[in-house]
Amino acid sequence: MEKKLTDALGRPLHDLRISVTDRCNFRCRYCMPEEMYGPDYPFLPREKLLTFEEITRLVRIFSSLGVTKIRITGGEPLLRKDLPQLIRMIASIPSVKDIALTTNGVLLKKQATLLKKAGLERINVSLDTLNNDLFTRLNSRKYRVEQVLEGIEAAARAGLRVKINMVVMKGVNDGEIVSIARHFRGSGHILRFIEFMDVGNSNGWNLKQVISMEEIVSRIHHEMPVEPMKPNYFGEVASRFRYQGSDEEFGVISSITAPFCSSCTRARLSSDGYLYTCLFASTGTNLVDPLRSGASDESIKQLIEEIWQQRTDRYSEDRSLQTGKQKGEKIEMSYIGG
Ligand code: SAM
Ligand code: SF4
Ligand code: SF4
Repeated sequence: MEKKLTDALGRPLHDLRISVTDRCNFRCRYCMPEEMYGPDYPFLPREKLLTFEEITRLVRIFSSLGVTKIRITGGEPLLRKDLPQLIRMIASIPSVKDIALTTNGVLLKKQATLLKKAGLERINVSLDTLNNDLFTRLNSRKYRVEQVLEGIEAAARAGLRVKINMVVMKGVNDGEIVSIARHFRGSGHILRFIEFMDVGNSNGWNLKQVISMEEIVSRIHHEMPVEPMKPNYFGEVASRFRYQGSDEEFGVISSITAPFCSSCTRARLSSDGYLYTCLFASTGTNLVDPLRSGASDESIKQLIEEIWQQRTDRYSEDRSLQTGKQKGEKIEMSYIGG
């Protein structure tokens, strides 16, 4: 049997997150603020994007190195033309056991059934507020909360398992922690609160704007008593909690106050074919040139293997909590995907 690939800190490679576009129809303040991502922003030209064939070839190579879980993300992945076709191509790779997608949800109503038929199993929909005034200021001036909620319902009707992601920012939407928890309790969709992170360089992150996992859970516990649950598997990013006396759960992704780098098994592929070994990386490895210049699968596999073996990333654990200081220039999340 082949030796299991692990990085320099002993972490295996299990997951690949693939950004299929750097564009988005939202301008979330914490990700692609309108002032920075205006009409003149130099998004990647189409020919720079990996084709579906190139992505599928890479997934096949990654899966030969131990990757079994794929997440499609962006930018907004549902803006990528014919996305179900890519899902179908990836789903046909036997060693891929799980395909999920992260979306802002507004295009989901139209596409949910097609995505499910293509082989998608799970979907994460981002929703930070149920209030349209705040939604306009925080996420999008073009769309409304109802369109996201309709997307969520369409996904559930199509048979997709749905999780909801809420990024919590102090003084912005933290007043909705309990009301959103109530809204999704009993819906069958698992809500996950995400601590506001210092990804990229453009969101003006400041530790003072972070509401900790402890605070989130205590606010909910005050209204609806909860208890912690065990993780489902090694490397699960969310800490799980259950409303006492029920099997309804929610999660918290605590990248700031309780980092989970020691079990991070995720690699990331940007839409133009660069491999990143951390969400907070500043440089990636060019896979597109080898792909487009006739390199064999075996040599691309070796390249990825070398990169993973050298991996020492543990940005969140290294981040100085005392000062809340960010370290160095980083790539933007809309480019690399969440
Ligand atoms: N456009 C899709 C969406 O919003 O779901 C997929 C890409 S988005 C970059 C992936 C996830 O990252 C979303 O759930 C979003 O809320 C989260 N995200 C973006 N910027 C963040 C930040 N600064 N802190 C925490 N989460 C963030
Ligand atoms: Fe777009 Fe998602 Fe970033 Fe919001 S979080 S701007 S929806 S990529
Ligand atoms: Fe993984 Fe980097 Fe996040 Fe740590 S900071 S959990 S290494 S992506």
